[in-house]
Amino acid sequence: MDVGQNLAMGSITTLVTENNDFLKFTGFVVVIWMLRVLLLKSLVTLGRSPVAEPTRITIRPAITEKQVERESVWPLGYFLDTLAVVGLRAAGLFSDMPHFETTLQAIAWQFLFHATIVEFLYYLFHRALHVQWLYKRWHQYHHKSINTEPTTAVSFEVGERLAYTVLFAISPVLTGLIGAQTYAGLLIYVLWFDFMNEGGHINFEVLPQWYFRSPLRYVFYSPTFHAVHHTKFKKNYSLFMPWTDILFGTAVYTHDEAVTPPKGLNQVDVETGVKEQDGQVV
Ligand SMILES: [Zn+2]
Ligand SMILES: [Zn+2]
Repeated sequence: MDVGQNLAMGSITTLVTENNDFLKFTGFVVVIWMLRVLLLKSLVTLGRSPVAEPTRITIRPAITEKQVERESVWPLGYFLDTLAVVGLRAAGLFSDMPHFETTLQAIAWQFLFHATIVEFLYYLFHRALHVQWLYKRWHQYHHKSINTEPTTAVSFEVGERLAYTVLFAISPVLTGLIGAQTYAGLLIYVLWFDFMNEGGHINFEVLPQWYFRSPLRYVFYSPTFHAVHHTKFKKNYSLFMPWTDILFGTAVYTHDEAVTPPKGLNQVDVETGVKEQDGQVV
Protein backbone atom coordinates (compact mmCIF):
# COMPACT_ATOMS: atom_id res chain seq x y z
CA MET A 1 0.00 0.00 0.00
CA ASP A 2 1.29 3.44 -0.81
CA VAL A 3 1.06 6.45 1.48
CA GLY A 4 -2.26 7.56 -0.04
CA GLN A 5 -3.88 4.16 0.53
CA ASN A 6 -2.54 4.09 4.09
CA LEU A 7 -4.06 7.49 4.82
CA ALA A 8 -7.40 6.42 3.31
CA MET A 9 -7.43 3.22 5.40
CA GLY A 10 -6.51 5.28 8.46
CA SER A 11 -9.40 7.69 8.00
CA ILE A 12 -11.86 4.83 7.35
CA THR A 13 -10.69 3.15 10.58
CA THR A 14 -11.10 6.46 12.45
CA LEU A 15 -14.57 6.92 10.97
CA VAL A 16 -15.69 3.39 11.87
CA THR A 17 -14.29 3.72 15.41
CA GLU A 18 -15.97 7.10 15.81
CA ASN A 19 -19.28 5.73 14.50
CA ASN A 20 -19.08 2.77 16.88
CA ASP A 21 -18.36 5.11 19.76
CA PHE A 22 -21.25 7.36 18.76
CA LEU A 23 -23.63 4.39 18.59
CA LYS A 24 -22.39 3.11 21.93
CA PHE A 25 -22.97 6.53 23.48
CA THR A 26 -26.45 6.82 21.94
CA GLY A 27 -27.37 3.37 23.31
CA PHE A 28 -26.11 4.47 26.72
CA VAL A 29 -28.24 7.62 26.62
CA VAL A 30 -31.31 5.55 25.74
CA VAL A 31 -30.58 3.33 28.78
CA ILE A 32 -30.42 6.49 30.96
CA TRP A 33 -33.78 7.53 29.48
CA MET A 34 -35.34 4.19 30.41
CA LEU A 35 -33.90 4.34 33.93
CA ARG A 36 -35.31 7.86 34.35
CA VAL A 37 -38.78 6.60 33.40
CA LEU A 38 -38.42 3.66 35.80
CA LEU A 39 -37.35 5.97 38.64
CA LEU A 40 -40.28 8.33 38.02
CA LYS A 41 -42.80 5.47 37.91
CA SER A 42 -41.37 4.00 41.14
CA LEU A 43 -41.59 7.37 42.93
CA VAL A 44 -45.19 7.89 41.76
CA THR A 45 -46.10 4.43 43.08
CA LEU A 46 -44.38 5.16 46.39
CA GLY A 47 -46.08 8.56 46.69
CA ARG A 48 -49.51 6.95 46.21
CA SER A 49 -48.85 4.02 48.54
CA PRO A 50 -50.00 3.71 52.19
CA VAL A 51 -46.36 4.35 53.21
CA ALA A 52 -46.91 8.00 52.28
CA GLU A 53 -50.02 8.61 54.36
CA PRO A 54 -48.62 9.14 57.89
CA THR A 55 -46.42 12.04 56.78
CA ARG A 56 -48.53 13.37 53.91
CA ILE A 57 -47.78 17.08 53.52
CA THR A 58 -50.46 18.78 51.41
CA ILE A 59 -53.87 17.13 51.68
CA ARG A 60 -56.21 19.59 49.99
CA PRO A 61 -57.07 20.02 47.18
CA ALA A 62 -57.33 16.38 46.12
CA ILE A 63 -55.49 15.24 43.01
CA THR A 64 -57.96 15.31 40.16
CA GLU A 65 -58.01 13.43 36.86
CA LYS A 66 -57.39 16.77 35.21
CA GLN A 67 -54.12 17.10 37.12
CA VAL A 68 -53.02 13.60 36.11
CA GLU A 69 -53.86 14.44 32.51
CA ARG A 70 -52.01 17.78 32.69
CA GLU A 71 -48.94 16.04 34.10
CA SER A 72 -48.94 13.43 31.37
CA VAL A 73 -46.68 15.82 29.40
CA TRP A 74 -43.71 14.51 31.42
CA PRO A 75 -42.18 12.34 28.60
CA LEU A 76 -41.49 15.50 26.58
CA GLY A 77 -38.73 16.63 28.93
CA TYR A 78 -36.88 13.32 28.84
CA PHE A 79 -37.15 13.34 25.05
CA LEU A 80 -35.68 16.86 24.80
CA ASP A 81 -32.85 16.00 27.19
CA THR A 82 -31.98 12.85 25.26
CA LEU A 83 -31.97 14.75 21.98
CA ALA A 84 -29.75 17.47 23.45
CA VAL A 85 -27.18 15.02 24.85
CA VAL A 86 -26.98 13.04 21.59
CA GLY A 87 -26.65 16.38 19.73
CA LEU A 88 -23.78 17.39 22.01
CA ARG A 89 -22.08 14.06 21.39
CA ALA A 90 -22.47 14.57 17.63
CA ALA A 91 -20.76 17.96 18.10
CA GLY A 92 -17.81 16.20 19.74
CA LEU A 93 -18.53 16.52 23.47
CA PHE A 94 -18.54 13.40 25.70
CA SER A 95 -16.27 11.55 23.26
CA ASP A 96 -13.42 9.39 24.57
CA MET A 97 -14.94 9.29 28.06
CA PRO A 98 -13.78 6.60 30.47
CA HIS A 99 -16.51 4.26 31.69
CA PHE A 100 -15.76 4.20 35.41
CA GLU A 101 -12.23 5.41 36.10
CA THR A 102 -12.15 8.92 37.63
CA THR A 103 -15.93 8.77 38.26
CA LEU A 104 -15.51 10.20 41.76
CA GLN A 105 -13.82 13.17 40.18
CA ALA A 106 -16.64 13.50 37.63
CA ILE A 107 -19.24 13.46 40.44
CA ALA A 108 -17.31 16.02 42.47
CA TRP A 109 -17.03 18.44 39.53
CA GLN A 110 -20.68 18.07 38.59
CA PHE A 111 -21.77 18.62 42.18
CA LEU A 112 -19.55 21.71 42.44
CA PHE A 113 -21.00 23.21 39.24
CA HIS A 114 -24.49 22.25 40.36
CA ALA A 115 -24.25 23.65 43.89
CA THR A 116 -22.95 26.99 42.64
CA ILE A 117 -23.80 27.93 39.03
CA VAL A 118 -26.91 25.81 38.44
CA GLU A 119 -28.55 26.52 41.81
CA PHE A 120 -27.87 30.26 41.47
CA LEU A 121 -29.07 30.58 37.85
CA TYR A 122 -32.12 28.44 38.59
CA TYR A 123 -33.04 30.68 41.52
CA LEU A 124 -32.86 33.82 39.37
CA PHE A 125 -34.82 32.14 36.57
CA HIS A 126 -37.44 30.85 39.00
CA ARG A 127 -37.89 34.33 40.47
CA ALA A 128 -38.38 35.67 36.93
CA LEU A 129 -40.92 32.91 36.25
CA HIS A 130 -43.05 34.31 39.07
CA VAL A 131 -43.31 37.71 37.39
CA GLN A 132 -46.91 37.95 36.21
CA TRP A 133 -46.51 37.72 32.40
CA LEU A 134 -43.98 34.90 32.47
CA TYR A 135 -45.97 33.14 35.18
CA LYS A 136 -49.12 33.19 33.08
CA ARG A 137 -47.35 32.15 29.88
CA TRP A 138 -45.27 29.34 31.34
CA HIS A 139 -44.89 28.68 35.03
CA GLN A 140 -48.54 28.43 36.12
CA TYR A 141 -48.66 25.08 34.32
CA HIS A 142 -46.37 23.68 37.02
CA HIS A 143 -48.17 25.55 39.82
CA LYS A 144 -51.64 24.40 38.91
CA SER A 145 -50.65 21.34 40.94
CA ILE A 146 -50.83 22.48 44.56
CA ASN A 147 -50.99 18.93 45.81
CA THR A 148 -47.93 17.62 43.99
CA GLU A 149 -46.77 14.25 42.70
CA PRO A 150 -43.35 13.27 41.33
CA THR A 151 -44.74 13.92 37.82
CA THR A 152 -45.40 17.56 38.82
CA ALA A 153 -41.61 17.99 38.89
CA VAL A 154 -41.43 17.27 35.16
CA SER A 155 -44.61 19.02 34.01
CA PHE A 156 -44.09 22.33 32.29
CA GLU A 157 -45.01 24.38 29.26
CA VAL A 158 -42.69 23.41 26.43
CA GLY A 159 -40.77 26.73 26.48
CA GLU A 160 -39.99 26.45 30.19
CA ARG A 161 -39.03 22.80 29.81
CA LEU A 162 -36.70 23.64 26.94
CA ALA A 163 -35.01 26.25 29.13
CA TYR A 164 -34.42 23.55 31.76
CA THR A 165 -32.81 21.25 29.22
CA VAL A 166 -30.25 24.01 28.65
CA LEU A 167 -29.89 25.06 32.30
CA PHE A 168 -29.60 21.56 33.73
CA ALA A 169 -27.08 20.54 31.08
CA ILE A 170 -24.58 23.00 32.56
CA SER A 171 -23.02 20.62 35.12
CA PRO A 172 -22.49 17.60 32.83
CA VAL A 173 -21.40 19.82 29.93
CA LEU A 174 -18.84 21.82 31.93
CA THR A 175 -17.51 18.58 33.39
CA GLY A 176 -17.24 17.23 29.83
CA LEU A 177 -15.49 20.38 28.65
CA ILE A 178 -12.80 20.15 31.31
CA GLY A 179 -12.29 16.49 30.35
CA ALA A 180 -13.48 15.07 33.68
CA GLN A 181 -16.74 13.40 32.58
CA THR A 182 -17.25 9.62 32.62
CA TYR A 183 -20.12 7.37 31.56
CA ALA A 184 -20.88 6.42 35.16
CA GLY A 185 -20.54 10.05 36.29
CA LEU A 186 -23.11 11.21 33.75
CA LEU A 187 -25.54 8.43 34.69
CA ILE A 188 -25.21 9.11 38.43
CA TYR A 189 -25.68 12.87 38.03
CA VAL A 190 -28.83 12.53 35.89
CA LEU A 191 -30.44 9.98 38.23
CA TRP A 192 -29.45 11.98 41.34
CA PHE A 193 -30.98 15.07 39.73
CA ASP A 194 -34.27 13.26 39.01
CA PHE A 195 -34.34 11.70 42.46
CA MET A 196 -33.94 15.12 44.08
CA ASN A 197 -36.37 16.85 41.74
CA GLU A 198 -39.13 14.25 41.64
CA GLY A 199 -38.58 13.22 45.27
CA GLY A 200 -39.02 16.88 46.25
CA HIS A 201 -42.56 16.74 44.81
CA ILE A 202 -43.54 13.39 46.36
CA ASN A 203 -45.78 15.10 48.93
CA PHE A 204 -44.90 13.07 51.97
CA GLU A 205 -41.99 13.65 54.29
CA VAL A 206 -39.31 11.06 53.72
CA LEU A 207 -36.75 12.72 55.96
CA PRO A 208 -36.66 12.05 59.71
CA GLN A 209 -37.56 14.72 62.29
CA TRP A 210 -33.94 15.13 63.38
CA TYR A 211 -33.08 16.31 59.85
CA PHE A 212 -35.18 19.43 60.40
CA ARG A 213 -33.32 20.25 63.61
CA SER A 214 -29.89 19.68 62.06
CA PRO A 215 -27.85 22.06 59.85
CA LEU A 216 -28.45 19.63 56.99
CA ARG A 217 -31.78 21.37 56.39
CA TYR A 218 -29.78 24.33 55.09
CA VAL A 219 -27.82 22.13 52.66
CA PHE A 220 -30.56 20.16 50.90
CA TYR A 221 -34.26 20.85 50.68
CA SER A 222 -37.03 18.43 51.61
CA PRO A 223 -40.48 17.60 50.19
CA THR A 224 -41.90 19.84 52.94
CA PHE A 225 -39.66 22.74 51.93
CA HIS A 226 -40.85 22.57 48.32
CA ALA A 227 -44.48 22.03 49.38
CA VAL A 228 -44.26 25.52 50.89
CA HIS A 229 -43.48 26.84 47.40
CA HIS A 230 -46.53 25.10 45.94
CA THR A 231 -48.83 26.42 48.65
CA LYS A 232 -47.37 29.87 49.38
CA PHE A 233 -46.00 30.52 45.86
CA LYS A 234 -43.51 33.30 46.61
CA LYS A 235 -41.29 31.44 49.10
CA ASN A 236 -38.76 28.63 48.76
CA TYR A 237 -37.78 29.06 45.12
CA SER A 238 -34.61 26.92 45.42
CA LEU A 239 -33.92 23.99 43.16
CA PHE A 240 -32.50 21.51 45.74
CA MET A 241 -30.21 23.66 47.87
CA PRO A 242 -31.83 26.37 50.01
CA TRP A 243 -28.74 28.61 50.23
CA THR A 244 -30.18 30.81 47.48
CA ASP A 245 -33.45 31.33 49.38
CA ILE A 246 -31.49 32.05 52.56
CA LEU A 247 -29.29 34.56 50.69
CA PHE A 248 -32.24 36.40 49.16
CA GLY A 249 -34.48 36.15 52.24
CA THR A 250 -37.18 33.91 50.72
CA ALA A 251 -36.58 30.75 52.78
CA VAL A 252 -39.44 29.50 54.97
CA TYR A 253 -38.82 26.60 57.32
CA THR A 254 -42.32 26.11 58.65
CA HIS A 255 -42.06 22.37 58.91
CA ASP A 256 -44.90 21.92 61.37
CA GLU A 257 -47.12 24.44 59.62
CA ALA A 258 -46.65 22.81 56.23
CA VAL A 259 -47.39 19.36 57.60
CA THR A 260 -50.89 20.49 58.55
CA PRO A 261 -53.14 20.93 55.50
CA PRO A 262 -52.67 24.41 54.08
CA LYS A 263 -55.68 26.62 54.62
CA GLY A 264 -57.44 29.00 52.29
CA LEU A 265 -56.41 27.45 49.01
CA ASN A 266 -59.74 28.25 47.41
CA GLN A 267 -59.05 31.95 47.74
CA VAL A 268 -57.32 34.51 45.62
CA ASP A 269 -53.63 34.22 46.33
CA VAL A 270 -52.66 37.74 47.33
CA GLU A 271 -49.11 37.51 46.05
CA THR A 272 -49.69 36.08 42.58
CA GLY A 273 -53.18 37.46 42.10
CA VAL A 274 -54.07 34.11 40.62
CA LYS A 275 -57.37 32.64 41.73
CA GLU A 276 -57.17 29.02 42.74
CA GLN A 277 -60.19 26.77 42.85
CA ASP A 278 -59.73 23.14 43.70
CA GLY A 279 -56.17 23.29 42.51
CA GLN A 280 -57.03 24.83 39.16
CA VAL A 281 -56.01 28.34 38.23
CA VAL A 282 -59.17 30.09 37.06
ZN1 LIG B 1 -42.54 28.40 41.09
ZN1 LIG C 1 -42.40 22.42 42.03
